[in-house]
Amino acid sequence: MRRIYAGIDIGGTGTVIGLFDESRKLLSKTGFATLGARRERFGNPTLFLDRLAEELGKAVAVLETPAELAGAGFGVPGHVDPELGTIRDATNLGWNELSFAAEMERRLSVPVRIDHDVRTFAWAEVRAGAARGCLNALCLTIGTGIAAGIVLDGRLVRGSHSSAGEIGHDSVAGLSTTCPCGKIGCLETVVSAPGIARLAVEAGLGRSDGQPLTATDVSRLCAEGNTHALRIYRYAAGLLAGKLATAVALLDPEAIVIGGGVAEAGEYLFAPIREILHEQFPRLRDKLRVTKGELGDEASLIGALYHIYP
Ligand SMILES: [Zn+2]
Repeated sequence: MRRIYAGIDIGGTGTVIGLFDESRKLLSKTGFATLGARRERFGNPTLFLDRLAEELGKAVAVLETPAELAGAGFGVPGHVDPELGTIRDATNLGWNELSFAAEMERRLSVPVRIDHDVRTFAWAEVRAGAARGCLNALCLTIGTGIAAGIVLDGRLVRGSHSSAGEIGHDSVAGLSTTCPCGKIGCLETVVSAPGIARLAVEAGLGRSDGQPLTATDVSRLCAEGNTHALRIYRYAAGLLAGKLATAVALLDPEAIVIGGGVAEAGEYLFAPIREILHEQFPRLRDKLRVTKGELGDEASLIGALYHIYP
């Protein structure tokens, strides 16, 4: 029977299961709500793990050609220890100290690997996406928060406490908003979807239908030439570029790849970052690329796959 591999992205809202063949071709993609209709029910990790194994089994069973699962890789939002296969703390899911890999191996009877979802994103973009062929790259996702996956000399860097790349909670001088982490002035109080929406509301922008304004609405207003919206993206891009400049000086990457919902703003975000970095590092003008992720919402699945099927 042919062997297949699963690349799975566990998100705060939805969990997506990708099944791949041995040439890493995506065979199917299915999903379910991570915390269920009643949030508290799947906030219980045991119930979630049972459901996950069941959904994965179903996804394999409905494939046109019969196949046998040979391994599963997972991207998880939160602090994980990939060596031990444990989730130390996944705040958005309400889980901590969970022996995730061991629990799933017991249910699936195949090898399981896990990593932080920004690292599965980064590894996918370096192996098969916008930073393909790069030995040194910084790959960031900007959505509810911001974090970076770092690849140096062709290897994914995790740091001594699996915390490398947590740039979102590095503070910026002059910012005064309290971050959900409890600190004041973290980068992600501005450079994140909620941060951009908050600044826009403070600038008097809103939606005509009364719904809460989103970062996507703000980028749409940029396209309409709204000066407040343009100024907000430029400001957020400027703060991020300041942090990236230090990272560039320290790590000398060939590429900076940005994904996540906020990257959909495109050049309203990318052009100012590029401008600031190239101004600070003129010799890198033709050598440092700043670009959007290529793999879209499949990046985390592909990265998780590469963790189990390198
Ligand atoms: Zn913070």
